[in-house]
Amino acid sequence: MGKILPMLPDPHATKQAVIEIADLHKRFGAHPVLQGVSFTAHQGEVVSLIGASGSGKSTLLRCMNLLEVPDSGRIVIAGEQVAFRNDRKGQTMVADPRQVERIRTRLAMVFQQFNLWPHMTVLENLIEVPVRVLGQARPQAIELAETLLAKVGIADKRHHYPAFLSGGQQQRVAIARALATRPSVMLFDEPTSALDPELAGEVLKVIRNLAQEGCTMVLVTHEMAFAREVSSKVLFLHQGRIEEVGTAQQVFESPSSERCRQFVNAQF
Ligand code: ADP
Ligand code: MG
Repeated sequence: MGKILPMLPDPHATKQAVIEIADLHKRFGAHPVLQGVSFTAHQGEVVSLIGASGSGKSTLLRCMNLLEVPDSGRIVIAGEQVAFRNDRKGQTMVADPRQVERIRTRLAMVFQQFNLWPHMTVLENLIEVPVRVLGQARPQAIELAETLLAKVGIADKRHHYPAFLSGGQQQRVAIARALATRPSVMLFDEPTSALDPELAGEVLKVIRNLAQEGCTMVLVTHEMAFAREVSSKVLFLHQGRIEEVGTAQQVFESPSSERCRQFVNAQF
């Protein structure tokens, strides 16, 4: 009889895949921006996307929540595969607009520039989508909104308009607004790049708390120390390809790609 080899425990054996991306391609005109990107994010994982400006990080995030439609490849969000088809001009589109709506409620995005609705108070920003799009009852939506505002430390500003808040406060409201739809995954696109270091710190603290609570997220960031601290998986993107993937320790301390090593060294 052969020796029985001990099985290595698979850390994801019981964890569901929340995002599955396979062989994603996207070009703008003649410029190939994503050239065969594949990765999976499991429930509770924090996946960081790092790479030089122009490497395709935002495009990859935008493809996930269908703000951009990829030219080819497969996207599965919370078990649902996005159905693409080609129109008569040969352009790829999402087959079903209702699917776009559904997918967008599962992936909530936080942008560099906050993007709060300026004519609505903080509280109204939070309940708009739950009440008007998802059809939730207003009192319940307000209750959740207030809980979330307390969580991000902004409860006392709920009746203020965004223009009267600091950038850090606005971004924390944007995070609370994203959480208000109870998404399966949070997408962050350089959430602190528009902020002074001090204000960035208060936003990173909120993201760190979410990570510790097991919130699944994909994070594009230039905050390398933060990415190293919170990520369960780090992807280094170079010219639209994943050049390096691994745990934070692998990617930051012993990358196999020379380009990744140079990029990481230049950041610290
Ligand atoms: P990153 O977020 O890593 O800086 P992006 O995904 O924003 O990179 O951009 C990757 C490349 O795609 C860049 O060269 C950018 O100029 C180009 N690009 C992004 N969006 C568009 C667009 N809507 N139209 C044309 N080119 C675009
Ligand atoms: Mg970007």
